[in-house]
Amino acid sequence: MATQEVQQHGFQAEVKQLLDIVIHSLYTDKEIFVRELVSNAADALEKVRLKQLTENGIYGADKELAIHITTDEEANTLTIADYGIGMTREELTENLGTIAHSGTKAFLEQLKEKGDGNADVIGQFGVGFYSAFMAADTVDVYTHSWREDAESLKWSSDGATGYTIESTESEERGCKMVIHLKEGQEEFSKADRIKEILEKYSNFVSFPIHLNEERVNNVDALWLKSKGDVTEEQYEEFYKFVAHAWDKPRYTMHFSADAPLAINALLFVPGENQEQFGMGQIESGVSLYCRKVLIDSKPEKLLPEWLRFLKGVIDSADLPLNISRESMQDSALIQKLNKLITKRFLKFLEKQAKDDAKAYNEFFEKFGRFLKEGIATSFEHQEQLGGLLRFATSTTEAGEVTSLADYIERAGEQREEIYYLVGASREAIETGPYLEAFKARDIEVAIFTDPVDQYVLDSMPEFKGKKLVSADRADIELDDVEAEGESLSQNETEALVSWMTDTLGERVEKVEAGKRLVGSPVAALAPKEAPNAQMMAMMKAMGQEAPTPKVTLEINPRNEVIKNLASLQQRDTDLAEMVVQQLADNALLAAGLLENPQSMLTRINDILAKVAK
Ligand code: ADP
Ligand code: MG
Repeated sequence: MATQEVQQHGFQAEVKQLLDIVIHSLYTDKEIFVRELVSNAADALEKVRLKQLTENGIYGADKELAIHITTDEEANTLTIADYGIGMTREELTENLGTIAHSGTKAFLEQLKEKGDGNADVIGQFGVGFYSAFMAADTVDVYTHSWREDAESLKWSSDGATGYTIESTESEERGCKMVIHLKEGQEEFSKADRIKEILEKYSNFVSFPIHLNEERVNNVDALWLKSKGDVTEEQYEEFYKFVAHAWDKPRYTMHFSADAPLAINALLFVPGENQEQFGMGQIESGVSLYCRKVLIDSKPEKLLPEWLRFLKGVIDSADLPLNISRESMQDSALIQKLNKLITKRFLKFLEKQAKDDAKAYNEFFEKFGRFLKEGIATSFEHQEQLGGLLRFATSTTEAGEVTSLADYIERAGEQREEIYYLVGASREAIETGPYLEAFKARDIEVAIFTDPVDQYVLDSMPEFKGKKLVSADRADIELDDVEAEGESLSQNETEALVSWMTDTLGERVEKVEAGKRLVGSPVAALAPKEAPNAQMMAMMKAMGQEAPTPKVTLEINPRNEVIKNLASLQQRDTDLAEMVVQQLADNALLAAGLLENPQSMLTRINDILAKVAK
C-alpha cells in the first residue's frame, strides 16, 4: 500500500442523514458533544484496560490510562486525547463511517417524521461521535491501535459528504480528536467553559481527566453515599452519564445492604423504552463494581435478561477483585446478587405502584413488556411479576387498568378462577361471543390485547393459588342463570342438535345446547389443551405447523336464529343446511379460527338467492 496516499471515503447514506439532522436541527444543548467524546475516550480506556489483563506486547504499555483535554483559543480548537484502545484503518471506516446499529435506520425515519421540535425523542438516542459536528467545521482523529504493529493514522472530515484517511508519522496509542470549531462556537475553545462542562459529570468517569495538564476529576462514587447526601440533580446527571441518556430517569432506586451480601446499588429506569423505538434489543446497562473499581461494564447474568432496561451501578465489596470475567459470570456470588437485586427491584416497583398508581401505570405501559418477558422466563419471580401486571377488564372504565390482586379481591375468595380473554382489542373481545355469558353472571373477565399476552398467560397457570382460565374454553362450568326469552323445548333442542351434528360432521368436535350464551346464536369453544387463535398465529409466524383445533359448537336455544332454524329444517332442508354451515363459519370467525373467510362468500350469495326468491 502506498502509505502517503490520502484515501477518500464517502459516508454511508444513514450517516449523512444523521449528520444532517445533528448539524441542522437537533440540539440546542451543543455542549453535550464534549460529554460524548469524553465518554468515548473512557470507553476506549476501559477496552485497553481489559486487553492489558489478557495480552502481552501492548503498544505504549507505559501510558497512563487517562484522558487529556486541551483548549486553544488562538487556533479555535478543542483537543480530546486518550491512551485508549485506538483504531485501525478498518475500524476507522467501520466505526466512524457507518452506523452499524440495525435499528438506527428505523429510528432515523421516526426522527424525520417527528421533525425538529422533538428533542425529547432524540434525547433517547446518543448520536455519539457525530455530535462533534454540531460545534466543529472539521474533526481530525489521530490514532494508533493497541497492537505494536498497527498503523499511525489520521482520519479527517467536515461532517458533510465523507472523510479521508491517511498514514502519519508516529501516533501514540489511543485517539486524539482535534475539534476545529465553527465560527460562533468559540466558547468551546475556552478552558473555563470546558471546565464547567466537565465538572457536571466527569466526576463519574473512572479514569483521570486532565484539562490543560490539570487534573479535573476525582472519582466520585455516588452509589456509595447515603441517600440523604445525594441531590435529585446529582442523580439525574449520574443517570445521564451511565445511561448515555439525555432524558430524565423515570425511577431511581438507591439502596445498600450488608447482609447476606454487601451491596450498594444505584439503579435507574429510563424515561423511555428504547426497544419501543424499534432499535432492537437493548444491551444491559448495569455495571459491576467492587469498592469503586469497575469489574465489568456489561456483566452478563448479573441481572436477568428481562431487566435489561435498567441502567446504573451495582457495587459489592464481597466480590473478589482478581476474578476473571468468564468464571465470574457463573459464580455462585453473581447468582446470589442476581436474585437479591431482582427481588429488591420488584419490591421497589410494588411500592411505586402503591404510592403513585398513575406514575406506575405509565411505567407499565412503556416497560410492561419486560415484566411480561420475566413472567414467561423467570419462574422464581413469576408471582411477584404477576402482581405487577396491569390490564383492563370487562368492568373497568375506558383507560383504567387493574391488577390480579384487585381482581381476586373483587371476585371474592371463594372463586377459584381468574377468567381472561386475549384478543386484538378490547372492542373485538367485547363484541365477540365469549364475554356475554360472564357478563350475564356478573363475572369480571380480564382483557389482554398485547400480542405477547397469550404466551405470557400460558406460562402462568396460576396466581396466588387461583387458576388463570381463558374464557373461551369449552370446559368452563358456569352457574345457571335465568335465561331470558322462550327457548326451544327439550325435544326440539335435542333434535336440532343431532341434526346439526350430522350436518357439520367433521367440521366440529360436537354440537351442544348451552346456557352460556345470551345474545349470540352460537359460539365456538376451544378444547382445553388446544392452542387458541393468538397462539396459532404466533406458531404460524414462527413457521410451525398449526392445525386448526376442532371446536365445540355451543348453540343458544333461546336465540331467534336457532329457533327459526328448527322450523326451517322441517320446511327447507337445503337452506337450513346452508344456514348451519354459515353459523359454524361465523362462530369460527369470531374465534379467529376460520382459515379461509373468502370461501363463505359463495355460500352467503346462495343463501341470499334463496331468501330473495
Ligand atoms: P458508541 O460510543 O455508542 O459506540 P459513538 O458514535 O460515540 O458510538 O462511537 C462510535 C464508535 O467509534 C465507538 O463504538 C468506538 O468503536 C469508536 N470510537 C469513538 N471514539 C473512540 C476513541 N476515542 N477511541 C477508540 N474508539 C473510538
Ligand atoms: Mg459514544
